[in-house]
Amino acid sequence: MKYFSTRGEEEKYTFREVILKGISSDGGLFVPEKIPPLTPEEINSLLSMNYHELVFYIFKKFEIDFADDEIKELIEKAFEKFDTPEVAPLIHLRNGLFLIELFHGPTSAFKDMALQVMPLFFEASLRKLNEERKSKNLPGVRYLILVATSGDTGTAALEGFKNREKIDITVLYPEGGVSDLQELQMITQDGKNQHVYGIKGDFDDAQNAVKYIFTDEKFIKKLDSLQIKMSSANSINWGRLLPQIVYYIYSYLTLLKKGEIRAGEEINITVPTGNFGNILAAYYAREMGIPIKKLICASNQNNILYDFITTGKYDLRSRTLVKTPSPSMDILISSNLERLLYHLTENTQKIRKWMEQIKHEGFFHVDEETQDKISSLFSAGWVNNDTTLLNIKKIYTETGYLMDPHTSVGELVAESYIGKQKDNRKMVVASTAHWAKFGVDVFKALHGYPYNASDIPEIKGLSGVEIVRLISRETGKNIPQNINTLDRRRMIHTKIVEKNPEKIEKEILKIMG
Ligand SMILES: *Cc1c(COP(=O)(O)O)cnc(C)c1O
Repeated sequence: MKYFSTRGEEEKYTFREVILKGISSDGGLFVPEKIPPLTPEEINSLLSMNYHELVFYIFKKFEIDFADDEIKELIEKAFEKFDTPEVAPLIHLRNGLFLIELFHGPTSAFKDMALQVMPLFFEASLRKLNEERKSKNLPGVRYLILVATSGDTGTAALEGFKNREKIDITVLYPEGGVSDLQELQMITQDGKNQHVYGIKGDFDDAQNAVKYIFTDEKFIKKLDSLQIKMSSANSINWGRLLPQIVYYIYSYLTLLKKGEIRAGEEINITVPTGNFGNILAAYYAREMGIPIKKLICASNQNNILYDFITTGKYDLRSRTLVKTPSPSMDILISSNLERLLYHLTENTQKIRKWMEQIKHEGFFHVDEETQDKISSLFSAGWVNNDTTLLNIKKIYTETGYLMDPHTSVGELVAESYIGKQKDNRKMVVASTAHWAKFGVDVFKALHGYPYNASDIPEIKGLSGVEIVRLISRETGKNIPQNINTLDRRRMIHTKIVEKNPEKIEKEILKIMG
């Protein structure tokens, strides 16, 4: 199976090639030339598989260019650091609403589901590339992974790429735009190949800097002369999306196994959404044939996707990013939307036009036909900051389950969809982070403080980790090991840089020697 760009570049590439490239040279995102179907009988035959086996099966469906043994070996290794053999447990919260917990990996957020897998396939692809180059008497290449993060991606990418051969990873995060725990998770990373910078700006500034650097011809030439290539670990990389499709299929199979649904019965899925990667993976699962009726896109106060899904207009002009307790969704430009628009239109010219418009005018409006398709597939909702926190307390009080703020946004949008649409299909909500990653806001929630409360006597003077321990004592809930040990680790990466991409390029040249 080959992949090609959403913006019409002629050439097609294999999985190994697209995972290394990350983004197409015309600025587009890689999409598969077909989405492999799963027949109803086939879906039944998957019921006996464990998570690893299912990943293998789906990777084979997408015909990735690796030998079977090698795929199996990499998948085994990928899930070693998860704290449960189930990998992604499905919890019945209440009344036909389920949470698929995607935070059992080493950094306690759903990004691990893909970023424990993708770097291994990346490293293996690079090894093969260098073998091919060697046989042609060409020098070997090194890779620089450049990542913009609103918090969780950075940590998960650093963890995934830690000490991978011939690969360096550089992460840019908005200084002050991530939680103190997220920041600690990043700046205490002790791999030999890891570089982390806070930048003076917001997530979109970080993402824009990365986009600029990726397309800066002069800089690319300079790196080329040093036998260095660049790629991305953001969800624009197809290697991120593929592993994410698996857990939506897995959640469907788990519902079947538990007897919650009959074969062929439709379910709905709600995803707390930022860059549109996670919900797009659910879309691919649906296109493959998993009976999913609606994909429900849940936003926080940065509700540009809500507006887009309900009106067909993507409008940045009157918007500025606001801070929320779900910072991993604080995004105005949702990159993966481009892939969805391609699949709905199959028209690379249209995609190019819309992407040019958003870039230069801050606005695009899809045609009616595309909008109708979006409305039939998707529903959307959003939740403000204080309601997000109130819902954490409400669900904890009513069910004993403690959610993080991202999951709270998803849960609330799911409930409101069920209430409004009177749709009683089983609902799966993606639970994207462990509560302990967002301790301060979870504390505010449990103690009835509003989001913008600043003077909270109970936690005055406590560090992020100490607050998490306090919550744990109060609720009896466990803290993941990686978070509980954070304040014993050394802070290594403490450099803050300007958001100016050229300054960042200079830093990169320094570290890559
Ligand atoms: C990244 C992230 C999201 C958003 O996922 P997208 O794929 O960017 O839509 C939601 N919740 C958490 C905890 C995340 O880390």
